[in-house]
Amino acid sequence: MNTPLAPSYVGRFAPSPTGALHFGSLIAAAGSYLEARRHSGRWLLRIEDVDTPRCIPGAADGILRTLERFGFEWDGEPVWQSRRLAVYADALERLKAAGHAYACACSRRELAQALLARDGSRIYPGTCRNGLPPGRLARAWRVRVAGSIAFDDAVQGAQLEDLEHELGDFVVLRADGLFAYQLAVVVDDADAGVTHVVRGADLLDSTGRQRYLQRLLGMPEPHYAHLPVATNAAGEKLSKQTLARAIDELPPGAALLAALAFLGQNPPSQLAGAPLAEIWQWAQTHWSIARVPRRRAIPAPGLHRLAPSAGGE
Ligand code: GLU
Repeated sequence: MNTPLAPSYVGRFAPSPTGALHFGSLIAAAGSYLEARRHSGRWLLRIEDVDTPRCIPGAADGILRTLERFGFEWDGEPVWQSRRLAVYADALERLKAAGHAYACACSRRELAQALLARDGSRIYPGTCRNGLPPGRLARAWRVRVAGSIAFDDAVQGAQLEDLEHELGDFVVLRADGLFAYQLAVVVDDADAGVTHVVRGADLLDSTGRQRYLQRLLGMPEPHYAHLPVATNAAGEKLSKQTLARAIDELPPGAALLAALAFLGQNPPSQLAGAPLAEIWQWAQTHWSIARVPRRRAIPAPGLHRLAPSAGGE
């Protein structure tokens, strides 16, 4: 009997429900979606609500509704990180058992003082690396790093991250008892069989840590493509913190065309005002990741021009 082949392309979009989707999120959603569809692959949705204090009630439902309104079609049910704590705990136990993770008693203040006294760098000074100081209790758990990680990013090109000298031992279980994003994302991608991660270049600096964890946990290493992030006039990444406007306020077709143009796809001007389905049709036929600008950040287009009533501002 033939065993079914594992799908050769599994992509995903993993928004954090910390606010409404903005133009920057649309870039990551559209890029990962089109790349998956271009490869006849699956596209999964994961709600990254592991960092509960940062989540906004109702934001996840709002994100799902917005994605639907924009015509995204995901495969299967969305995965919620908040329902997967036992799986993260299991991965942490494996790291501990293999001696890759150690308990850390350092408070933020102690760390800041130790770093200042040393060289002002942000690398963990290793205080608890060889055991907790006498009388101290574990606050967090860190992973012991060594060496560097090299990988080829489909948009940003060859990457080399010196984990030991640039990043240092990093936290996998936080002092507030929450699992760190780095651990959750690696476990989730592996469990879902994700083969290709397409996301914003703001996460490029996390990729070395994630690939390191994949190695420690014996998980497959997906391919990575980091799209340029959209910035505001001040050069800041669009986010809830920079008060980026929700894409729900924009006409989906016009916003999607702006996202395609941002991603270097040159959608023809005749598509302006076309039905959303026609724009998706064009995008799925013409999408090429090779045309995405090899930049980490690009100013967002003037989205106020896309608003249904541009007069109000
Ligand atoms: N949840 C992250 C974010 O919204 C994305 C994580 C990822 O794609 O790996 O920025």
